[in-house]
Amino acid sequence: MRAFSRALIGFFLTTCFFSSPGSLQARSLITLTDSVVVQGAIIRVDILSDFSPDTVTGTFMEKALPFIRTADGNFYSLAGVDMESKPGAYTLALELHRSGKQPELLRRRVDIRDAEFPVQRLTLPPAKVFPDSAALARIKRESDLRNRKWWQWAAGAFWRGKFIPPLKGEMERFGYRRIINEAQRSPHTGVDISAPEGSPVVAPAAGKVILTGDFFFTGKSVYLDHGLGMIGMFFHCSRIDVAEGDFVEQGQVIGAVGSTGRATGPHLHWGVRWRNDRINPVSLLELNFD
Ligand SMILES: [Zn+2]
Repeated sequence: MRAFSRALIGFFLTTCFFSSPGSLQARSLITLTDSVVVQGAIIRVDILSDFSPDTVTGTFMEKALPFIRTADGNFYSLAGVDMESKPGAYTLALELHRSGKQPELLRRRVDIRDAEFPVQRLTLPPAKVFPDSAALARIKRESDLRNRKWWQWAAGAFWRGKFIPPLKGEMERFGYRRIINEAQRSPHTGVDISAPEGSPVVAPAAGKVILTGDFFFTGKSVYLDHGLGMIGMFFHCSRIDVAEGDFVEQGQVIGAVGSTGRATGPHLHWGVRWRNDRINPVSLLELNFD
């Protein structure tokens, strides 16, 4: 309910009319779920137009946005803000194309605010913090494999309705700046959900399994492609119930909670990348795709 009201308020606050200069016939507008967004957020960008564009193209933060046609002939996309993006004002620039007509240009300012991620201090076994040369070689191999997978996605969206949490349990805040054994490390790029060892982990939305394995840092891990560049990651599992190439439905069990890899106890790490931007999974849960 909270998320719904917020989205609704956001809709009214951020709905506005923009048309290209000199284009008196333009009748299109952009609506956003939020016009001021924090680092790590993902927002839905809707276009309402009194004509039916053939295609829509657009960019945000120097990345192309994929547009999806809705059942009523309008288009929407998703704009992600990587957790380490610089706060400030950015422009969403869209073009609505129709055959035989000049494209209609739409512009929209989006303010990105500092998320003020909290600091977390952890103490871990030295072997997990300062890996030896064999471990470093393994980490490099695993990182190269992951980096390739993050750029390979299905050409259409598999999601419908709303995403659901992969696990019931207490969810930590996203984005902790981590100090591990007194040294500054990469920020925490997902949310940790605590639950007893063996609790089932389910797919937040339909998707294709693009990678599974037992990795140095992330332990037994599942990577799900929800389509169009939305990659979900599920780390530290005790068990993996799917294989690369499987297609899973929303709610299907993909594994179980564990503490494999660099983990201090049983929990699930849920991370989401949207076209390689590291986004807060909670922000994704607030969006509706009905
Ligand atoms: Zn985590």
